[in-house]
Amino acid sequence: MRILVTNDDGIHAEGIAVLARVAKQFGEVAVCAPDREKSACGHGMTLHDPLRVRPHEVEGCRGYVVNGLPVDCVNIGLAEAFPDGCDLVLSGINNGPNLGFDITYSGTVAGAMEGCINGIASIALSMAVFVSGAPFHYETGEAWLNENLGRLIPLAPKSGSFLNVNIPAIAFEEIEGVRVCGMGKRVYEERVERRDDPWGRPYYWQGGVAVMDGSEPGTDVDAIRNHYVSVTPVSLDWTDHAALGSLAEALSGPSPLHGR
Ligand code: MN
Repeated sequence: MRILVTNDDGIHAEGIAVLARVAKQFGEVAVCAPDREKSACGHGMTLHDPLRVRPHEVEGCRGYVVNGLPVDCVNIGLAEAFPDGCDLVLSGINNGPNLGFDITYSGTVAGAMEGCINGIASIALSMAVFVSGAPFHYETGEAWLNENLGRLIPLAPKSGSFLNVNIPAIAFEEIEGVRVCGMGKRVYEERVERRDDPWGRPYYWQGGVAVMDGSEPGTDVDAIRNHYVSVTPVSLDWTDHAALGSLAEALSGPSPLHGR
């Protein structure tokens, strides 16, 4: 099995070394990752600047470091490392949760999404730590993946959707199990903070405190809160299928403005 490993925390991050170590038990691994942290870059790609690639071994696996984003890394990794095809894209392990609406910002999830767009089974992996400065517990992630990645790989869809996995950042013994669940809601309070610089000019810093809505059962947010690993199948089709009929009906017939 040919496995491409990427992330959005950069090639020097601890999480990608852990992931490469686990992945190489399952086949031939190549790592292709950004040269620095690119978290919260979403599904962006570099179009207007040249991308430079340097060899960089990770955990004994051949690797490439790129001055780009996770999407760039997946596409360069596929072209350079696996020109004859790749069977699996793994993205992570991220140094923080990717739950609910987070996945729209996430470079980690974008890595898996890009694998999926290329028609390859893909899995995004994150350590769900919530307190700044708290331990990521990568050893828990490694232990859980050593036991479970072999089970997940054949379940990762080959096209149209991918898996988003969050592992609670707690001791391995404290993990209650696995829950397959949908996306919850994760919204942020005080998203933008305005401060003044030493010259009295305002500047803004985005971040905010995540307010988790854990009241909804069956969601990734709820699973993590209850110390379960969450596994969410995420579809690339963003269509609101339930709205198609009523929207089509509302837009059929004459326009009320022009009466024709
Ligand atoms: Mn990240």
